[in-house]
Amino acid sequence: MNSIQLEKNISLSNFTTWGIGGPAEWIAQPKNIEELQYIINWINKKKIPCSIIGAGSNLLINDKGIKGLSLCMRNFKGIHIDKKNGIIEVLSGEMLPTLARKAAKNGLHGIEWAVGIPGTIGGAVVMNAGAQEHCISNYLESITTLSLTGEYKKIKGKDLNFGYRHSLLQNEKLIVVSARLKLTSGHAKKIRQVTNENLNHRLKTQPYQAQTCGSVFRNPEPWKAAKLIEELGLKGFRFGGAEISKIHSNFIINANQASSYDVRELIKYVKKNVFDSYGILLETEVKQCGF
Ligand SMILES: Cc1cc2nc3c(=O)[nH]c(=O)nc-3n(C[C@H](O)[C@H](O)[C@H](O)COP(=O)(O)OP(=O)(O)OC[C@H]3O[C@@H](n4cnc5c(N)ncnc54)[C@H](O)[C@@H]3O)c2cc1C
Repeated sequence: MNSIQLEKNISLSNFTTWGIGGPAEWIAQPKNIEELQYIINWINKKKIPCSIIGAGSNLLINDKGIKGLSLCMRNFKGIHIDKKNGIIEVLSGEMLPTLARKAAKNGLHGIEWAVGIPGTIGGAVVMNAGAQEHCISNYLESITTLSLTGEYKKIKGKDLNFGYRHSLLQNEKLIVVSARLKLTSGHAKKIRQVTNENLNHRLKTQPYQAQTCGSVFRNPEPWKAAKLIEELGLKGFRFGGAEISKIHSNFIINANQASSYDVRELIKYVKKNVFDSYGILLETEVKQCGF
């Protein structure tokens, strides 16, 4: 008998780092393959749509909520480390900071930059998350996916069409079940030190304690979105409960019970101002769900 709970009308605000989002018609949080398989069978029987959520650290969810099933993968955890060969096999709900810490502890070098990114490995692969000139695709050998109709597939990293905060998975709805990373051996003490320094740097330069979604806009190379926004004097600018961070102007913080409407209006305002002043059309990095 399967023990997974399918719950109805649960607010998704606790499932995003912005603390924003209306109710999920249905929500499930599988912990293992059997539970995930059960859910896939269930959605196919009910013929309802499915939206995938990791840690919700790059998601803006509509205040009106999401129809169908919200499949939240943040409890889908497990890590296996083959220290000798530098291989990490990880289930998609593991958090990047945990992964970075465990790699450092085992003297594996490569993902020290990931320590301050509060997303799951599944979300990181979809987004090709990165920092300091690194990104997850540089260390990814392959992933295993599950389609919404129940087929498993192993896909090599090189076949995922990775780019700047982009992967093929943003266009094809596949559940990332697990990932296989290849790191290199190094000196554990040194790797731990770099990992700690990276986190400290973030704590100083980003509104880390506030409810945010990280960088809202993609950088329109060669420019930095934060710099363009800051130069327009928009730091601290508010719409409703949403505010452009005074610490990092590519972050929007939920300063006071912001709604998805507040955030979207603020995004529109920033885009208009940047376009009018520089002729540059900013694109959002944040994914929007239920609109
Ligand atoms: C304080 C802060 C700092 C941040 N800094 C960075 C940074 O330096 N660099 C960076 O790249 N990002 C950064 N981010 C953004 C975010 O953490 C990353 O994009 C992260 O990889 C998203 O992972 P997630 O699990 O939260 O995914 P979600 O936000 O839950 O989802 C993002 C997308 O991935 C899909 N998805 C999630 N899990 C799965 C899965 N298992 N299978 C299939 N699809 C899935 C979702 O459907 C959605 O389309 C930051 C965010 C915050 C709040």
